[in-house]
Amino acid sequence: MRAEVLSIGDELTSGLSLDTNARWLSQQLENLGIGVACHTTVADDLDVMTEAFRTAIRRADVVVATGGLGPTADDLTRDALAATVGRPLVRDDAALQHIRCLFAHRHREMPERNKLQAMFPAGSRIVLNPHGTAPGIAIEVPRGDTPPVHFYCLPGVPAEMHEMWFATLQGELRRLTGSRVIRHRRIKCFGAGESAIEAMLPEMIRRGRHPRVGITASEATISLNVTAEGATEEECLAAMEPTLATIRTELGHLVYGEGDDRLEDAVVRLLGQQGATLATVEWATEGLITQGLQAAAHGGPETPGGLVVAQLEALTRLLDVPAEPLAVGRVELVETMALAARRKFVTNYALAVGPPPQIAEDNPTNEPVVVALATPEGVRTKNLPLLSHPAIQKAWCAKMAIDLLRLELLGR
Ligand code: AMP
Ligand code: MG
Repeated sequence: MRAEVLSIGDELTSGLSLDTNARWLSQQLENLGIGVACHTTVADDLDVMTEAFRTAIRRADVVVATGGLGPTADDLTRDALAATVGRPLVRDDAALQHIRCLFAHRHREMPERNKLQAMFPAGSRIVLNPHGTAPGIAIEVPRGDTPPVHFYCLPGVPAEMHEMWFATLQGELRRLTGSRVIRHRRIKCFGAGESAIEAMLPEMIRRGRHPRVGITASEATISLNVTAEGATEEECLAAMEPTLATIRTELGHLVYGEGDDRLEDAVVRLLGQQGATLATVEWATEGLITQGLQAAAHGGPETPGGLVVAQLEALTRLLDVPAEPLAVGRVELVETMALAARRKFVTNYALAVGPPPQIAEDNPTNEPVVVALATPEGVRTKNLPLLSHPAIQKAWCAKMAIDLLRLELLGR
């Protein structure tokens, strides 16, 4: 069973508002084991809507549309649905009574236009909207030999739509699917590109595989999204386990966490397990490392603090690094920063990054940012060539620095 989620409204197609309904409905549908194959967004335009409705009926078994059920001239969902299924709009007296009652309850006169909200395509059902004037519409649309499409139209207001989903759609759709569920797990990786990771997992990303494995990249972090479908949550989780185990074995230390884990969470966890502490000094990354680690540690003992500097002068004053630091060389300078931070903060480890990318850009040789990690045994450095898009260079350097520590803590 495949679903399509249809979002209706000029405010969505013009970019004024973000379509949060599609996301929410997709999560709900997947919880019921109904995979969502398509999101469609259309403007308040009768022809465009009717065409989208026809297309959805052709390719989906369940369609959930939101928006366009209001009483104003730009609310065209009921007309588009009536035109699509070729049936007239007829008034429902009970629905009209409900709308009248809502207005009376609010001590307001019911505008003539609101009567429109009691009009439904012949043969459709009303989806009650306890707290709003726009009832929803449910209709089974016949399709020749194949089973009918279950088409639902709900109001766009998220709170009303959510309430109606739980009161009506969830139960109806659960009866239809006979309690199938879809579950997701996500493995988080760092240290290799999307295609390199795909190459390490031949067959895994293949379409039609069960459990399904998808791969997405965001700021150099790779997520492997594993999806299973089954009769119960336990069945889904059991079906995913061998796939998750293979991914962990094949990717080894590239895997740092699961679910919503960030690299910082993984590092703080490792520090905690080893009873170790870390200080940071950032001249190239604007505090991104310190901020991420502090957020992960929640004020815990793993990261007592760090320094964020914007000027060389601040560095020389606070950490006693050489007054002419660039003369001693970039690598030596950043090593000195790490060693000094480890000493001053009295920690087991210290991470230092610098000089900032702007300085590297000015430099005709485009020198890399340097990250240095001071450890109880000495200091390790790594050059970070600035090859990524300028907009993500700093975030990338921060992640590379944190990952250097992660690998050190893993003994690699
Ligand atoms: P409508 O049912 O089209 O009159 O929509 C009423 C209101 O619901 C809009 O003004 C939006 O604020 C909100 N809304 C409509 N569609 C969506 C959507 N897809 N995602 C989030 N909010 C929406
Ligand atoms: Mg609208």
